[in-house]
Amino acid sequence: MTCRCGESGRVQAKHFFRRTVAGTTFTSDADVDSCAGCGEVHIPASLMIAFERAIAGELARRGPVSDETFRWIRKAAGLERGELAQILGVTPETIAGWEGERRPIDRAAWLLVASMVLDSIEGPRPVRARLKAPQRKVASPPELAIGLPAGGMTARVLTLIASSARCSESDLADALDVDESALQALLRDLATLGLVSPTPNAGTERSWAPLTEGPAALLRAAVEAGVDLDTPLPRATPGETAKSDPRLRAAGATWRLTSS
Ligand SMILES: [Zn+2]
Repeated sequence: MTCRCGESGRVQAKHFFRRTVAGTTFTSDADVDSCAGCGEVHIPASLMIAFERAIAGELARRGPVSDETFRWIRKAAGLERGELAQILGVTPETIAGWEGERRPIDRAAWLLVASMVLDSIEGPRPVRARLKAPQRKVASPPELAIGLPAGGMTARVLTLIASSARCSESDLADALDVDESALQALLRDLATLGLVSPTPNAGTERSWAPLTEGPAALLRAAVEAGVDLDTPLPRATPGETAKSDPRLRAAGATWRLTSS
């Protein structure tokens, strides 16, 4: 890739992230490419997203429960206001009110969305365990250095498989809010490359295990095998009926294909 300055050589540089949310300044750093001529840094979008997700993860874990943090975690959970309003049985205006400090935030709604965010970062866990997380009572520090979780969807799939115990296919699809059959196709590809393998499960559902120990090593092996970690997956079809009825599900898949 040639830079605007005409130079095509790249050197590695450090990029420092810094963002203040709800009184805490979150910092992180990552290796990025920079131009050997003018030093201009190229920051991939997936890295920016990873930083925002890392912040959302910390907020979901520690709180505080507030209008500002609610907006952050809702966005990280990939929920539109209207969609969340439907889930909670409130109007989108109610949610806008929570996020705009016009109404006191609903703690139950906050905890639900926080659980969804943590599911998508750490893998699904029982809700009770999530709600008992003691860290939320700890006051937030003024500055907090955070690690960046994998940004791209394929990277997130691999990270969840490497870090959580026995995720079934539907657990993974739910946690990441992606279409299950598209996820299955991806997992089959990753298995062909010797990165993951299906494991027998007590139930009828298939689980997947990593063939390399640890998330970082698995991601490295994937890159070496030529996997594009940023490859996206289509979102899950909203609505329970679409999920349980194979015909509706197929219709949903067609709808997504034609509309994208
Ligand atoms: Zn340049």
